[in-house]
Amino acid sequence: MIVRLLIALLIAFLIYTLVQSIKQFLKRPDIQPPEKTAKGEDMLQDPYCGTFVSRSDSFSCSIRGIQQFFCSEDCRDQYIAQVAKDKETRS
Ligand SMILES: [Zn+2]
Repeated sequence: MIVRLLIALLIAFLIYTLVQSIKQFLKRPDIQPPEKTAKGEDMLQDPYCGTFVSRSDSFSCSIRGIQQFFCSEDCRDQYIAQVAKDKETRS
């Protein structure tokens, strides 16, 4: 009789731990994919430093007809300077 009770307790304990670990697994915060922000905005990669920025936080600029998005004015200016320099050295 005692053995049966112990087995029942063991099974109950195992079920309890299983449920707890499943709960913990489900509770884990989702890792945001870099493509979208919490607001569902598109994430854009700064071509100068590689940082991802949301469209509303970005500094955009059209370079050679291509719209580019930057994390800061600094990056934008540096990138424009770099592109201008590349053009100079090539021609
Ligand atoms: Zn940047």
